[in-house]
Amino acid sequence: MSASHSKTMHRWLGRRALILTMLLGLLFLEVITVTAVVVSQQVKTNKALETHTRQLLQDAINVTRENARGFLIPAENTALLTQGLFSRQILSLDQPQELEHYFLEQLKIVPQIDGLFYGDAQGRFLFTKHSQGKTGAQYVTKVISLVNGTRQVYRIWRDEEYTELVREYDSNDTFDPRQRPWYQRAEARMSPIWTDPYVFFTSQQPGLTVAAPIIKETNGLIGVIGVDIELSAMSHFLAKQKIASLGGAVIVHQNGDTLAYPNPEKLLKETEDKRFRLVHLDELDALTTSATRELMRRHPDLSTLNEVYYDKFDAGGDAYLSIFMPFLDQTKWPWIMGIYAPKKQFAESIREGQRQSLIIAIIISIVITLAAFILGPLFMRPLTTLQKQAEQDSLTKLLNRRSFLDLASRLLRDANDKHTSLSAIMLDIDKFKPINDTHGHQVGDEVLTAVARRLKRGLSDHDLLTRYGGEEFAILLPVTEITQASTIAERLRKLIADEPFLTENGPIPITISLGVAEFDPSMERIQELLNAADQRLLTAKRTGRNRVVAAESKNRAIE
Ligand code: GH3
Ligand code: MG
Ligand code: MG
Repeated sequence: MSASHSKTMHRWLGRRALILTMLLGLLFLEVITVTAVVVSQQVKTNKALETHTRQLLQDAINVTRENARGFLIPAENTALLTQGLFSRQILSLDQPQELEHYFLEQLKIVPQIDGLFYGDAQGRFLFTKHSQGKTGAQYVTKVISLVNGTRQVYRIWRDEEYTELVREYDSNDTFDPRQRPWYQRAEARMSPIWTDPYVFFTSQQPGLTVAAPIIKETNGLIGVIGVDIELSAMSHFLAKQKIASLGGAVIVHQNGDTLAYPNPEKLLKETEDKRFRLVHLDELDALTTSATRELMRRHPDLSTLNEVYYDKFDAGGDAYLSIFMPFLDQTKWPWIMGIYAPKKQFAESIREGQRQSLIIAIIISIVITLAAFILGPLFMRPLTTLQKQAEQDSLTKLLNRRSFLDLASRLLRDANDKHTSLSAIMLDIDKFKPINDTHGHQVGDEVLTAVARRLKRGLSDHDLLTRYGGEEFAILLPVTEITQASTIAERLRKLIADEPFLTENGPIPITISLGVAEFDPSMERIQELLNAADQRLLTAKRTGRNRVVAAESKNRAIE
């Protein structure tokens, strides 16, 4: 009883150990996998970080540049459209009201345009611009006309609806369009031009003009169209760009004059003669100075910068990245654009992603591990049942033939290696067919099961008992010589024969015949040992049944 209990205990522990080993293996694999993924990701990310931040900077500057183009081009288009309308004489200074109206409409449509004007070769001029100069005024138009050869200058202020509010004549005005930079450059080039930034005559604000000449085949240049953009508008535009909120952005002329800077109030500097000039790049804030220090050292003449320039610098204890590159069309705009931002601002978004994926990996790993612990045994249960079923004979619950043969081969190898004895008993129930015939198959099954149980009781834990065939059993007795095996066989015979089996049809007497053989080194396979025993079993059957027949021991002969 206690022996069979300890056997069950052993099996139970064996299964547990198997499950535990599998789970630990799973866990180990998982830890290895997660670690490998995290480490490789870390390495890759750090390598990619540098490239990636550069790419981000490059993207940012490209977007900003394209937006800046989108900001400037409408002004140029207005100049070209107006040039066309003048060439076709749809617009002219001879109809100043129509011209002014056209200018007013353009101002309304293209918000970045500050003013539009036309100056001609005779010194006549019409200029319409945004203005808050008089109460309720939205626009102001300045007109220089020639009345019978006499120069006349006046201004008209208009409200939102273009209604005239005030008209003022000004005899002191000395303005001559033909002296202005935009006129002279367009005249020199005889094609549309962008001026360098300069301080506007009227507003005293820095700005740019895109100018287009009006040319008549017979007369040559008859006038110039101009479209003004105030630089502060470009600065406001720059301030709205996302990159400016991270660090800084700047557009400078090749000569170092600052054209756009997120803080437009800083764009002008008063000169000693009470005039204004554009602020130089190195007069801006400390961050911009740091950002451009190395650039200026390498390119004292900024016109030599003709490709993308990356840099790293430190400011206020933070590492920064910067990028400078030529602005779009260098013939129109000989400018340099730059942006700079703290490295950690770029890195942070990437690191954040890295952190998140690490957290996700850990969570998944924990979930998988927990699932393995909770579900593992559940999954293992049918497996262990299956394994048991695969090993067992379903009726008698003894080892089945296949697993018996596996174990038997191992015992044979042990006996061979360790030079220990090994014996086999084959036994068969006598005249079992009549029992089936008399009492029915079910009672036959009952008897078979009871015989198996009784045989098992008569053996030790080390012995291997199997239902070898229908009502035939095989037993392997490790470390057992044939005489001892014969004794055991005889004990089993008596165990069966001495007491009838109690069934639902009453007691049934049963006998068995047994054949015994011992392993000898000439045997290579377990089947040879079993055959030897089986032959003795046949002899036992032939010679009257209910008896033990043992082979004579060859080993003994050696002894
Ligand atoms: P002997 O071995 O003494 O020569 O006579 P026997 O009648 O036992 O021999 P035989 O091999 O002719 O018959 C074996 C019988 O065992 C036939 C078969 O019906 C029965 N048997 C085999 N397996 C089972 C089983 O699982 N359940 C039942 N009830 N009977 C079985
Ligand atoms: Mg039989
Ligand atoms: Mg038989």
